[in-house]
Parts: sequence; C-alpha cells; structure tokens
Amino acid sequence: MPAVAEILIPLALDTAYSYAVPPGLTLAEGDVVQVPLGPRETVGVVWGLDERASGGNLRPVTGRIEVPPLSEPLRKLVDWLARYTLAPKGSALAMALRLPDEGAQRENPRIGVRASGRPPARQTAARGKVLAVASDGAVRGKSALAKEAGVSVGVVDGLIDDGALETVALVPEPVALPPNPDHPRVPLSDAQRDAAHDLIAAPSPASAPAEAGGTILLEGVTGSGKTEVYFEAVAECVREGRQALVLMPEIALTAQFLDRFAGRFGVRPATWHSGIGGKRRERIRAGVASGDVSVVVGARSALFLPFNRLGLIVVDEEHESAYKQEDGVHYHARDMAVVRGRLEGCPVVLASATPSIESRVNAQSGRYRHVSLPGRFGGRPLPDIKAIDMRLDKPERGRFLSPPMVNAVKATLEAGEQALLFLNRRGYAPLTLCRACGHRYQCRNCSTWLVEHRFRRALVCHQCGYAERKPEACTECGAFDHLTPCGPGVERIAEEAAELFPDKRIVVLSSDFPGGAERLRQELETVAAGECDIVIGTQLVAKGHNFPHLTLVGVLDADIGLTTGDPRAAERTFQLLQQVTGRAGRGERPGRALVQTYQPDHPVIAALLSGDAERFYEEEIAAREAAGLPPFGRLAALIVSAEEREKAEAHGQALARAADPPPGVMVLGPAEAPLALVRGRWRFRLLVKTERGIDVQSYLRDWLARGPKPRGNLKVAIDVDPQSFL
Ligand code: ADP
Ligand code: ZN
Repeated sequence: MPAVAEILIPLALDTAYSYAVPPGLTLAEGDVVQVPLGPRETVGVVWGLDERASGGNLRPVTGRIEVPPLSEPLRKLVDWLARYTLAPKGSALAMALRLPDEGAQRENPRIGVRASGRPPARQTAARGKVLAVASDGAVRGKSALAKEAGVSVGVVDGLIDDGALETVALVPEPVALPPNPDHPRVPLSDAQRDAAHDLIAAPSPASAPAEAGGTILLEGVTGSGKTEVYFEAVAECVREGRQALVLMPEIALTAQFLDRFAGRFGVRPATWHSGIGGKRRERIRAGVASGDVSVVVGARSALFLPFNRLGLIVVDEEHESAYKQEDGVHYHARDMAVVRGRLEGCPVVLASATPSIESRVNAQSGRYRHVSLPGRFGGRPLPDIKAIDMRLDKPERGRFLSPPMVNAVKATLEAGEQALLFLNRRGYAPLTLCRACGHRYQCRNCSTWLVEHRFRRALVCHQCGYAERKPEACTECGAFDHLTPCGPGVERIAEEAAELFPDKRIVVLSSDFPGGAERLRQELETVAAGECDIVIGTQLVAKGHNFPHLTLVGVLDADIGLTTGDPRAAERTFQLLQQVTGRAGRGERPGRALVQTYQPDHPVIAALLSGDAERFYEEEIAAREAAGLPPFGRLAALIVSAEEREKAEAHGQALARAADPPPGVMVLGPAEAPLALVRGRWRFRLLVKTERGIDVQSYLRDWLARGPKPRGNLKVAIDVDPQSFL
C-alpha cells in the first residue's frame, strides 16, 4: 500500500506537497484528489506515490474526485512547460486542470416535460389537447409539446404549475457527433494527394524516437489547399481510432471553417475556445478523456485537454504570434504542441503560407520534414501586387487614400466586385491633439496615447481599456473646437470611403465590432456572401477568411510595423502583408493588391512586390544568423514592474548587478520598456541573449536565486523566447 502521495496543487507553487494515503483509498499517479491545504480543502493531482514511505504524521488525502485522471504524457507536458517557462509547476498544472473561464457563458440545461399522471385541478379544452398529446408518456420540449397540441406555451406552463405535467432534464445533445472520415469529398489534385500522402506517411516517433521527426512543416500559399490536405491526415487518424487536435488562432475559428469541416466529415467538430462555458466545457473534457470526442478544433488552451489516444496535432497558421500567451505562464502553443506530440508519440503538422523563421530553419536543417504545395488550387493566379509610392502619389490634404488607390477601388466596384482596405489601426485616430496649446491626450494609467473611437464617442487606451468621453473643449487650455485627430484608424478610413463612394455598402471589421465575437463571426459570413462592397479592416480580416468576391486588397500603410524595435518586425510585416494581399482573388476572378508605402525599396516591401518569398526567407535567415537572434541564439526577457518607477528601476539594476553572465550569455538593461507604464505599473526590461547551446533556463534560475527578491507590489515576469518587446 502506498503510504505517501505527492500532490501537486494548481496554485503558484513550485513543488508537490506530501500527504498520507488513508487506508482503503487506492490512488494512481494522475488521479485528481481533494486535499486539505491550510484551513481549507483544495483540488490537486497525484504527481508521485511512495510505496515504502510512511505517511505517519502527514495530513491525509481527503478523497478522489471522479473526473478523468491526467495521463502520463499530459503530466509530463506540465513538467516540461514549468521547466521551460520557469513558471511554478502548480501554475502550469492549472492550465491542464481548470482552464481559463473568463467571459464564459453557461450552457442552459435543456428541460423537457411529460405527463405526471396526476389530473389537473382545472380542466379546459386547451389543457385537454395538451394532456392528450402527452398521454403517451414521452418527454418533449415545452414548445414542441405546445405546437403539437396546437396551443400556446402558456397552457403548458399552466399545467406544469398545476402539477399535471412534470419537468425533466433532457439528456444533453452530444458535444460532437462522430466525424465520418469517408464522407464523400471533392477529389484532391495530384499535388495535394502527394502532400496528403506525405503527411499520413509521417514516421511515428516510435521509429524515429530521438528527434522531433514527427513534426512536419506544411507550406503552401494561401488557397493552395493546405486545409484540404491536413483534413486527409485528420481522416486517417480518425480511421485508426485515434484523436486529432486542430489548433487555430482564436479568431480564425469561424462558422465558415466549421462548415468546411462538416463538408469533409459530415458533422461539425467539437470546438474549444474562451467562449465555451461551464457545463459544456466539462462535457467536452469528459468526451475527450473517454475518447468519445475524436476531433477537437480549438484555440491554444485546447493543447491541455486530456486526450487519451491523441494521434495527430495540426497547428494552423503556425506563424501567428497569437499562439504566444503573454500573461501568467508565458508559453508558445506551437512549441508546446511539438512537445506534446513528442510525448504522445504522434505527428505534428505546422501549416502556414508564411512560416515562422524558426520553423523554416527547422525544416531546412531536417529537424522537421518539409511538405510544400505548389501554387494555388486550380491554377488560380496569386494576386498581382503593386506599390504606390506615397512620396509621389500623395493623397489630398486630410485624406489617406492616394489617387491610384481611389481609382482602383472605383474600378473594382464598377465591375461588381469587392474591395478590402487594410489598416492595422483600430478606432478613428491614434492621437488627439489640441491645436491651441499642443496638449496630447494620454492614458492616465499607461504611457500610451488615447485613441479616438468615434463610434463610441470616447478616447480609449488600447493597453488597459481606460476610456474617457472626448471633451468639447481642451481639458488643458479650455479652447473650443481645437481638438484635432492625428493620423488614421479604420473608422476614419470608413468616413473617407463613405464620402468617396456614398452609395456603396461599407463595413468596418476590427475587434471593436459592436456585439462581440459572435456578431463579428456573422458579419464575416455576410462579407463572404458578397453582401457588402468595401471592407475596411485591421489584421482581424487578414487571418484565415475566404472572401470569394474580393478582388482588390488595398494596404494603406505597409510601413507601419517596420519601425518597431522588435527583432521580428520584418518577419511579422512580411507575413501580415503576404496574408492580407493573399485575400484577393480566391474566388472565380483574379485578384490584385495595391500597397501604399513610403519605402518601396525596403527589403520586406521589395520581396512582397516581387512575389519572391524565397528571397525574403534567405535574407532574413541570414540576418538572424549574423545577429545571433532566434533561432540561432536564444532570448529571454525579465520584466520588472512596480507602482513606483524608482522601485522598478532600482530592482532592475540590482538584478543586473547580480547577473554575472558566463561566456556565451549577454545581459542587456535594465531599460525602460517601450510601454513604460501599464495599468499604473512602471516597467523595466532586461534582455538575456545567449548562444544557441546555452541552457538559458538553468542560467535564469541561478541568477534569480542569487539576485534580489521581489517585495511588496514589485513583480518580475519571466518571458522565455519573448515574442513581444513592448
Ligand atoms: P489554404 O488552406 O492553403 O489557404 P484551402 O484548403 O483553404 O487552402 O483551399 C483554398 C480554396 O480552394 C478553398 O475554397 C477550397 O475549397 C478550394 N480547394 C482546395 N482544394 C480543392 C480541391 N481539391 N477541390 C476543390 N476545391 C478545392
Ligand atoms: Zn491605459
């Protein structure tokens, strides 16, 4: 009988605690249990069992909780995640145990009614009809019963109150029906069939145990059929009775995608994202654990679901920075997917039209297999991309669309086609300035300018959400009519487009879309159906959507992302522009893209215009290698924050003094963060840059152990492989 159990508790604790196993309770590793912690009871997971030790004076485990245990690969993933990110092991466990629940709506239980056998106190003709229908004893929904009896629902309610009908909870519909891998489907092209065959033939890590030989980079331009191809790998996985997980950036999880899945498999898949609430979440977890749910399409947190026969992970749009979680446990879902695949012994497919430099390098070095799809499906041409040199073709004063852009939109609309104007800036104007006194409106909690949102009639901070009404007169000098919006956001472009094309249907799509994610998804459907003429959007419209009527993409400010201090600025800009221009011409008619830029000769813009992605990758990879940047070197950031600026800076300096970097490690900073103040906290950053072979986690651990300890409101966040440098 095991006498001592090591229980890991999903709180910010780094070690498991020892508890006695009471007589009569048999535990296994991975079991979810209840244990006392201080004065209260809490949930934990059995992380280890010591058969020989004696639980003597330890507090006993209270009991086992009847939920699916955590499988060994999932427990190893938690260990791995904690070791890699330096997050407390308990915080890593929390991700696998009770997944984030913000904004979740509870699923309403479905209630049915049936005859109770008791006669009603009062009988009427209408009540008689209802009871006649219900006399078969079957359970029906309330409105279904009323309809069948030809009466109003009020009559049914009356009979419930009266006791003649009783309510029963209906068995909930299954969270997902089994997908049919052999559902009739469109035939694949030869190239697609070859690629699908390559994916299916992925060597299982059983035959290639040491390396991540099971990871495959599936590359192909937008519209080449990557989705169709990885669906074949999903189908093969389902045929073998194993489970498949498809990860997507949350916003790409659209009804359109789920319908495509249904087109291939006959039913929609189970989905997992932050909007899935309470009961339903538990049912999906249970279905995943039992194996009843065979395919899950989900956002990054789906990676921690308790699959028991995982046979395939697909990471769609693998280059997306949205896969990186930037608070709590700083993890990258793509990288953790590769780890989980290795632990589960299943292949991982990374799909992208514009792979991350990291994945490209891994493919080149042979760590990943590289499967490419040539060109668009059906020989549809890629859009023709041209630059508009803004130094020569200036827009009119106070306008943002240059004359060639206006003409192109006009021609597109006249041909009965759709145009997309892309600007990666939410709101109306990114800065508001008083022309009388020069005052600029800034957030009171953050070092950011307030962005005017005309639709909401407010000045808003995009960092912390702080909002104030746009004043009538300047709050500094009191001057009326001198507040001026500077620069454009999508709302301002919509205003300009409405003036230029007054009789056209214009829609603005950004994360500010009123009505939340669900309304936004619906709006995306109407755009896809061609029910609007001009779409004006942020990066939200660049991702994964298929708009068949769209033939012109206009990029309004191609240079926007190039001037940041981010080492991935060029890569991100290239990916985003490639992605957004790739929206054009995915239907019957060919597409084109126009790119407004002040730097037509910048390598990123030049590569985009020439359509020579290969050259871009070559140059960017060479530049990274020369600079020792990822994946040729490693980065980690420490972000020190406190309510007082001096305190944060002093702690950062004390950390730097304790850094004592060994050869191959460089510690930079502390430097005031570009976003120096966020939510009332001052931020300083330290950056660790190491050679590739250095164990950066061990170094960080030692450094933090000998460095000063955060006290009071001071915090030190650790971000290994940072994606954001703000
Ligand atoms: P990607 O994922 O590479 O962007 P998709 O898989 O979305 O490409 O395919 C692009 C478009 O081409 C979709 O509308 C898809 O339905 C269509 N398509 C791709 N392959 C085929 C095929 N073999 N037969 C018919 N339509 C296809
Ligand atoms: Zn703010």
